[in-house]
Formats: sequence, C-alpha cells, structure tokens
Amino acid sequence: MTSIGIVGAGVAGLHLGLQLRAADVPVTLYTDSGPDELASGRLTNTVTHHHPTLERERVLGVHHWDAAEYGYGSHHHVVGRRLLNGRALGGPDPLVFRGDLTDASSAIDHRIYLPRLLADFAERGGRCEVRGVGAGDLESLGERHDLLVVASGRGALAGLFPLRPERSPYDRPQRRLSVALWHGVEPAEPKGVTLSIAPGVGELLELPMYSFSGHVTALLFEIMPGGGLEALWNLRYDDDPRAYERAGLAALAEHFPRTFERVDPASFAVTRPQDVLQGALIPHMRADYACLGNGTYALAAGDVHCVVDPMMGQGANSASYSAWAVGEAILEELGGGGLGFDELFCRRAARRRAEVVEATADWTNLMLGPPPPHLLALLEAMSQHQGLADEFTHNFGHPDRQWAVLATPRRTARYLAAHGLDMADLLA
Ligand SMILES: Cc1cc2nc3c(=O)[nH]c(=O)nc-3n(C[C@H](O)[C@H](O)[C@H](O)COP(=O)(O)OP(=O)(O)OC[C@H]3O[C@@H](n4cnc5c(N)ncnc54)[C@H](O)[C@@H]3O)c2cc1C
Repeated sequence: MTSIGIVGAGVAGLHLGLQLRAADVPVTLYTDSGPDELASGRLTNTVTHHHPTLERERVLGVHHWDAAEYGYGSHHHVVGRRLLNGRALGGPDPLVFRGDLTDASSAIDHRIYLPRLLADFAERGGRCEVRGVGAGDLESLGERHDLLVVASGRGALAGLFPLRPERSPYDRPQRRLSVALWHGVEPAEPKGVTLSIAPGVGELLELPMYSFSGHVTALLFEIMPGGGLEALWNLRYDDDPRAYERAGLAALAEHFPRTFERVDPASFAVTRPQDVLQGALIPHMRADYACLGNGTYALAAGDVHCVVDPMMGQGANSASYSAWAVGEAILEELGGGGLGFDELFCRRAARRRAEVVEATADWTNLMLGPPPPHLLALLEAMSQHQGLADEFTHNFGHPDRQWAVLATPRRTARYLAAHGLDMADLLA
C-alpha cells in the first residue's frame, strides 16, 4: 500500500498528515520535537491564521478554538506619510484607516496549537516518530515511503532543495525581528490587528493572541537597519528583562503612538521569559522537489520551500495552503491508480500551488521595499474608500488577489479606475 513520509510537525506537516489520514492514507510523521518540547519551547513565531486556513481546519475537524471567541475581525492601518522614496502624500500624518474582514482570523500560539494537532493526528491513526532527521537519513526514509514530503521549516534540510535565484532577491535580512507576548496593552477596538508603518524606522504588528497566559498582545517590531529602533534590537531580553521592557515601551511611545495610547505602563510586561524571540531571516524560495539517491522523490512544503518576512502574516497560511495542494495532488494520484510519485507528479503538485505561494512572496517583498507610487496610491485610496480597505484586508487570506492588484502600476491604476478613482489624483 502507498505510504507517505512527512518530515516536520509544523503547520505544513500536520495539515498534510491530517488531510491524508482523513482519506485513510498511511502516513508517518518524523519530528525532532514531540508535543512536550513543542509546548515548553521558546516563542518561535506569532502566527495568525486567516479565514482560508481556518476553513481547512474546519474541514479537518481540528478547529478547536472557535474564531468567534478567539479571533478578530479588523485590521487597523496606521501609515506614516513621511515616506522614504522622496514622495510624501499630503494630509494628516499618519494616515489611519480600518479594514474589516469578511470572516474572522485568529492567532493561537503555535506552542498550544501544534501539540493539539499532533494528538489529533495520532488519534486518527497517523504514525509519529520523534527523532531528528539528518540530510543523510533522507535516502533511507525514501526506501520506506513512496513519497517524502519535507516540511521541516527553515532548518538544515532545506539545503536539499536548491535556491531559486530569480525568486530570492535578497542576500541579507530586510528587517530585524524583535517579538514578544505582552500584558498591559488594551486591545484595539474593534478587536483586531494593528499594522503600523513608520517609514525609515520599521513596522509594528500588534496582534491579539491566545497563549499560555490567556488573551495577550503580541508585538512584532520589524526593525529597519539604521532606523530608530536599534536600542530595542541591541538589547537581549535574557541579559536584562527590565531594560528590554523599557526599550519596548520607549519604542511604542516614540514611533507607534496608536498602540502606545492603549498601553498601561504599570502593567506593561513580557508575559513569560520564554515568550520572546529576537532574530532575522532572509526571504527566499527554493526548488519544489528533489530526487533522492534511490529514485524516491522529496517534495518541499512550507518554509522549506518558501520563506517570507512575517510582516504581512503570510508564511504559515502559505504553508497550510501549500500542504493542502500537495495533499490534493496525492489523493488525485491515488484515485487515478497511483502510478507513481515521480517527477511528473511533483511537477503537477508544484503547479497546483505555484500561483498562491509565489504571490505570497511577491506581495510581501513589495511591502518590504521602499513603497512604489502605485502602492502609495492604493494606501491613500483605502483611507478614503471603506470598500477598498475591506477588500485589501480580506485579501490577507488571498495573496494571489492582492498581487493581482499590486503586481504592476498599470494593474493598480485600472483597479482604482474601476472604483472611480484616478491614480494621479491620489498621488497629487
Ligand atoms: C515572528 C514571526 C511571526 C510570524 N507571523 C506569522 C503570521 O502572522 N502568519 C503567518 O502565516 N505566518 C507567520 N510567520 C511564519 C510562520 O511561522 C512560518 O511560515 C510557519 O510556521 C512555517 O510552517 P512550517 O510547517 O513550514 O515549518 P515550522 O513551523 O518551522 O515547522 C517545522 C517543524 O519541523 C521540525 N523539524 C525541523 N527540522 C527537523 C528535522 N531535521 N527532523 C525532524 N523534524 C524537524 C521542527 O521541530 C518543527 O516542528 C511568522 C514567523 C515569525 C518568525
């Protein structure tokens, strides 16, 4: 009987494993961290799942945290007008507007989320082996399975899949990330994510998150080198927790006043020492698949395949989408007689997910760079037209639609024109 091996029990590996188990396909998941290690570890991200990901969870029967209770329905946008590329839009600074989601998104700490899904996987007959897989082990795993899906995140195994230079535009991180879970921040009203852009300085993502301390606030500082947030970056939380907390408060006061005004300085504190992450990543994309020595194919899914900066909250959603597309391709292949999980199959699976995964990377990379005029025009338009702000916000769940509007100035101009707006007027 066909058997699928999956390396990695992140959102990509688990969503795929659960999808295949729902169709009774034998699956073995190899993970270096069992449920206890996952739950007790340090913060690795502050992930929000958008509606399409939550829908996949509902289909899989693993939506354990009702989005109506745990989720949120709005994005609050705060855009500094003192813009980097020589263009400054007129009007009040900052530009402030809100977009409402059609359906709720939700941010559950992955250290709670992943162990629960691992338990679901085991209950549904999935096999799980807790052990680190080295590059040298892949060939022997390939002997055991008809297909190996490598979903082990940004670690060493990613090297199996060559970089795609045309989709890997950076040789260094574009932001330094300083993120923690905090007490003492009153949620935005209505409950939602606040996305603040401070040109030349960086961005702040403020997320209502459910974690071990209950409903808390995740503050993800995206720090631009040479901006005004070095003080926060240069401090290691573990060296001096109080100094880190003071620097976080000062950063809010100086650069992100819309969040600062909801902070109670007396209770503003990191929730637990392990709820802090400081690091950086280089956005890139790798080949979809590789052939192992014995002829078995390994297919990349999730961060192994595509790493994006977390600024737009896309990586895990893209990992889930990608895994789902791979799952559908596997089930289709099995339905057609399962002739082979070979290169032809891998190419088909890759095509199935390409548009959304590539759009995720393209859109995020656009937002990381100095904002081009057509992006500025769209931001300005959204501040004046609720429908546009709502659509942009809804499309956090549909990066391909976001990119369809933003891929070129011409596309954006036509999109705005279809809503009765003139791009030149917006930029005047
Ligand atoms: C600060 C921050 C904020 C973020 N916010 C968001 C957000 O709001 N929305 C969003 O969609 N994304 C967000 N992301 C991105 C998101 O975290 C990742 O894209 C996503 O977790 C990738 O999932 P994955 O399953 O591919 O890999 P991972 O989640 O990294 O899981 C990989 C698993 O494989 C296991 N593993 C690794 N190596 C081996 C090995 N050699 N052998 C066996 N097992 C192994 C690991 O233990 C891990 O459990 C954020 C990232 C960061 C850093």
